[in-house]
Amino acid sequence: MVTSAQALKKYGEPSLEKNMTVWDVPTELEIGVIPKKIYCNKDLVKPLEQAFKNLIERNFVKELKTWDGCFNIRKKRGLASMSLHSWGIAIDVNAAWNGLGKTPVLSAGFVKCFTDDGFDWGGTWKNRPDGMHFQLSRI
Ligand SMILES: [Zn+2]
Repeated sequence: MVTSAQALKKYGEPSLEKNMTVWDVPTELEIGVIPKKIYCNKDLVKPLEQAFKNLIERNFVKELKTWDGCFNIRKKRGLASMSLHSWGIAIDVNAAWNGLGKTPVLSAGFVKCFTDDGFDWGGTWKNRPDGMHFQLSRI
């Protein structure tokens, strides 16, 4: 799993604009609540595009009820280390139903749309599942 130390080493300080892009999501992927534009790390674009394609092709796009953001410079909730959201390499979805420390309700098929193409899912974290959270599995 990618750590905040690895992200800091690769990308430098979270505020560095050079890592970031405004991804103009292709029109054919703007279905349901998939955003039209996402401010994110350049490295997130390809895996996220593929994950969105998977959601559409595998008929899980309806399960995406809310898009809850990507870039956000902050510490992991309740912890000292920085969240990978600080570098724009993590996203949150369906936050209202998949709160931190709660049992996630996302279907296995939905999760697989992301984990098949470059994401780790926070819902499998033993101590404190974070079911809303997907982050790049390698950088
Ligand atoms: Zn998150």
